[in-house]
Amino acid sequence: FHVPKAENEPIKSYAPGTPEREEVLLTYKDLFNSKMEVPLYIGSEEIKTGDTASMHPPHDHQHNLGNYHKAEKQHVEKAIATALEARTKWADMEWEQRAAVFLKAADLIAGPYRARINAATMIAQSKTIYQAEIDSACELIDFLRFNVEYMSQIYNEQPNSTSAAWNRVEYRPLEGFVYAITPFNFTAIAGNLPASAALMGNTVIWKPSDSQVFSAQVIMEVFKEAGVPDGVINMVMGDPVMITDTILASPDFAGIHFTGSTTVFKDIWAKIGNNIHNYKTYPRIVGETGGKDFILAHATANPKQVATAIARGAFEFQGQKCSAASRAYIPSSLWPSVKDSLLEDINSFKMGSPEDMTNFITAVIHEGSFDKLAKYIDAAKKDKSTEIIAGGNYDKSKGYFIEPTVIVTTDPNYTTMHTELFGPVITIFVYEDENWEETLKLVDETSIYALTGAVLSGDRYAAAQATKALQNAAGNFYINDKPTGAVVGQQPFGGARASGTNDKAGSKLNLLRWISPRLIKETF
Ligand code: GLU
Repeated sequence: FHVPKAENEPIKSYAPGTPEREEVLLTYKDLFNSKMEVPLYIGSEEIKTGDTASMHPPHDHQHNLGNYHKAEKQHVEKAIATALEARTKWADMEWEQRAAVFLKAADLIAGPYRARINAATMIAQSKTIYQAEIDSACELIDFLRFNVEYMSQIYNEQPNSTSAAWNRVEYRPLEGFVYAITPFNFTAIAGNLPASAALMGNTVIWKPSDSQVFSAQVIMEVFKEAGVPDGVINMVMGDPVMITDTILASPDFAGIHFTGSTTVFKDIWAKIGNNIHNYKTYPRIVGETGGKDFILAHATANPKQVATAIARGAFEFQGQKCSAASRAYIPSSLWPSVKDSLLEDINSFKMGSPEDMTNFITAVIHEGSFDKLAKYIDAAKKDKSTEIIAGGNYDKSKGYFIEPTVIVTTDPNYTTMHTELFGPVITIFVYEDENWEETLKLVDETSIYALTGAVLSGDRYAAAQATKALQNAAGNFYINDKPTGAVVGQQPFGGARASGTNDKAGSKLNLLRWISPRLIKETF
């Protein structure tokens, strides 16, 4: 079979006067005042349980966006029963029929739903339009389209046969259902985790992050309109521990597709271990978790390029990317020019509501995140080994705004050199040029994570040396670039150590985790 060749969705400009800019701003206004009531989606039912939580834009936290309804245990059990019932027909469906449904979903997002999904992300997750266009519309379209292409490559692969033995592999989904837990920071990841497992023939229970329910509902609308059958993707919200415990207690739990914090993922892994004797099959455990992503400059790097890598890598998306640069190592000979250029970049950043499209930075996701960042910034203000050279101010009177902050430390093991903060804060250690090799070791050993990292160097030997020395320090390693911005189909994304199981989102490797192939040998 041939499927349509996947190509990256072109990113729209949203320049003043463009129709897409007008449309998204109108949709923003509509959604902002829509007072949504987000139900649970279980099979064909949209359930309003009456037990609700309210939703608020992080940049305007007193404004009420509406409510989402919370599941009780019985709803989660109903979702499990529904997913299992829907599995029979969905798993037996020809794979190209499943592919068609998700290709249609991609087209809906590229067309009629683009403004809605972008505006919902801008409002509920405080993204600028450019961030939303990349992380919600385009990346989700890319995930859906590329997954279909990778699936066709998998399904077309067959073992050798002889005249005496005909061998064929049947690419069956897992036996049971899949649980998807998704984060607030990328609407595309939220859509992809349930969709990729469903594409491979599984049925899914999806728990979006509390902070992303508003745009998750738009994704459910898209799935429904695209023809994803009832019960194939069920969405539940509520007490995360209750939901997870109920799901993990089912003997039919067959796998988890997770993006979120390292602590939560490890807890879930331990619970799966405790329940292992109850399951019909060994569950697949796929997770992308934290990061403490680095930028390492060599003395031969271009200082302007280093500064841009830091400014964009650390502060775009308010630093709320798993891949965001959050520690940097700069040689002392380069530091004065890197510093000047970096301060110039940061001074040009405007911060405020996403509705004003001249803003480059908006609010962080919620009060918990704001308070955590403020606490680390305050500690850095007092510490003798540190100096804050940019930012350092914060204000939560209207929204959760944290200035892009640069901490410079003389202690390479200072707390913020190894603790994940998940916000617009980077810590820089200036090393002596002659300590390059020691610094390589330091970069490798300072953090428990290994998601992304970048080396900037004019000298090819140094770049090669860093590539080798840091082979386990980052699942996505960038030479002369920032450590963010992986594009589906170009840079498969994921890391190891405490950053995840490295099953590269948006790749064949990831899709392989959602199938349990059967080999059939037939002799004549
Ligand atoms: N794919 C994104 C990037 O490379 C990061 C995804 C994440 O934050 O989990 O920038």
